[in-house]
Amino acid sequence: MSFVVAHQGEEEVAALLAEFFPKGEFGSWIGGALVPGTGAEVTLINPATAEAFLTYQDAGESVVAAAAIAAVKAQASWWGLAASARGRLMWSCSVQVRNAAEQLAQLESISAGKPIRDCRVEVIKVAEMFEYYAGWCDKLTGQVIAVPTSHLNYTRHEPYGVVTQITPWNAPVFTAGWQIAPAICAGNAVMLKPSELTPLTSTVLAKLIEDAGVPSGLVNVINGYGHTTGAAAIAHRATSKVIFVGSPKTGAAIASAAALRVIPCVLELGGKSANIIFDDADIDRAIVGAQAAVFAAAGQSCVSGSRLLVQRRIYDQVVERIANASTKLPVGLPWSEQTMIGPINNATQFERIQALVAEGVGEGAVIAAGGQRAEVKGGQNGYFYQPTVLANVDNRMRVAQEEIFGPVVSVIPFEDEADAIALANDSRFGLGGAVWTANVGRAHRIAAQVNAGTFWVNCYKAINVMSPFGGFGESGYGRSSGYEGLLEYTRTKSVWVDTAQDGPIQFGYSVE
Ligand code: NAD
Repeated sequence: MSFVVAHQGEEEVAALLAEFFPKGEFGSWIGGALVPGTGAEVTLINPATAEAFLTYQDAGESVVAAAAIAAVKAQASWWGLAASARGRLMWSCSVQVRNAAEQLAQLESISAGKPIRDCRVEVIKVAEMFEYYAGWCDKLTGQVIAVPTSHLNYTRHEPYGVVTQITPWNAPVFTAGWQIAPAICAGNAVMLKPSELTPLTSTVLAKLIEDAGVPSGLVNVINGYGHTTGAAAIAHRATSKVIFVGSPKTGAAIASAAALRVIPCVLELGGKSANIIFDDADIDRAIVGAQAAVFAAAGQSCVSGSRLLVQRRIYDQVVERIANASTKLPVGLPWSEQTMIGPINNATQFERIQALVAEGVGEGAVIAAGGQRAEVKGGQNGYFYQPTVLANVDNRMRVAQEEIFGPVVSVIPFEDEADAIALANDSRFGLGGAVWTANVGRAHRIAAQVNAGTFWVNCYKAINVMSPFGGFGESGYGRSSGYEGLLEYTRTKSVWVDTAQDGPIQFGYSVE
């Protein structure tokens, strides 16, 4: 089924939201109801037109406190269900998401500025996340440990209770599903604070989860600013763990705030991933892969292949070909079915991209393609930026070290395998990376030596809820998705049962 989104303004958003929240209001989703905020007004801007389309009030401390009360209560009843019953309800969540997929995709496209075709894919991935973790509910078993005494010793994977999740604006509904599904699978309740810029789809997702039959208050969405609502959620005594997806700077501040309460964090932060092309690679495939790696989502992707390392012998050829190809990519309005590259999400980010590209040129980089605001009919005031190829880049330049988070690739030459590995690892980040080569042995050698949480061979950006994802270095710590992501939402308890028939109590160690 395919809908045509004629325009993306105030009326369209109101109509879409009214399908879920008929009273025509917007706020935080607490205990199964929309609750207005108590703080400053937040205005949402359509990135393609720079026009405001919705305002709401920052949740603030009292709304966070209400969310915490709802979450504690719901968690107790959720954890009291049989694991298989939780699994069935999680499967129902996926059915709800599939039924509302088009509305979710359109809302996402409007507020995040993402091409509608990408949004449709991401929403279906959210449904898959609930399906995957539905299956884990009754398989999350502990171990029986063969202790050398008469005790039965076993482990239990218990939920933290209430977890706070803080997410960014670049893939809002995908990130919400990615974190909510494992959290509730493990038996937790959630307080999710999406980016203040993109709260719509996360809030609708929480409503759909409740429509699936999950207890009211199990998933709450607290909408507002990070320094107010986000900080209040971390400081609240109900929060037992924080999962943060966002920039390294905010991640460090959040980990510090969590440390003051002695609660753990998962940090999913930024990246400056190296995409390495050797001269024996299938160059046609590598060039298509390199474009997708950095220009998809207009480069607003944490794993973007923003450093393209190319072996010296083919460097000029690759720069020329990727520069030519990048001028043909359809940059356009997010609601057009043809658009592959939409606008940058917000004015601040747009200006940051412009400033970093100018800095790169000042340091000696050469613009082989792009480097300007993109002209888009109907989006004259929008934050569109041309796919940009920077050649003659040295790995120590800021455009090779800083996360630009836009459609900008820095192309860097290398000599041989050792040089490629050294350059790839000359970064404070370690989120993703890739190698393109026909040499199988080399592919595995490089995969083993590049510091990155995810590495691809002759492909890029393959990601699935079944596989663990996370960073090395300043790209963060802890893992999301897969079994490892599920364990992040549990704490292990070791239970000892004395099975001796009689005689003195055994301690399992010598007590003098
Ligand atoms: P950001 O760090 O500015 O904000 C992320 C979230 O943190 C927002 O919800 C924001 O309101 C909140 N926040 C800000 N200050 C806070 C505070 N003091 N206390 C509590 N919460 C606070 O990031 P952004 O600009 O929204 O997103 C872009 C960044 O996200 C990029 O660096 C990108 O690489 C990263 N990202 C990482 C991943 C990953 O999985 N590794 C995925 C997507 C995005």
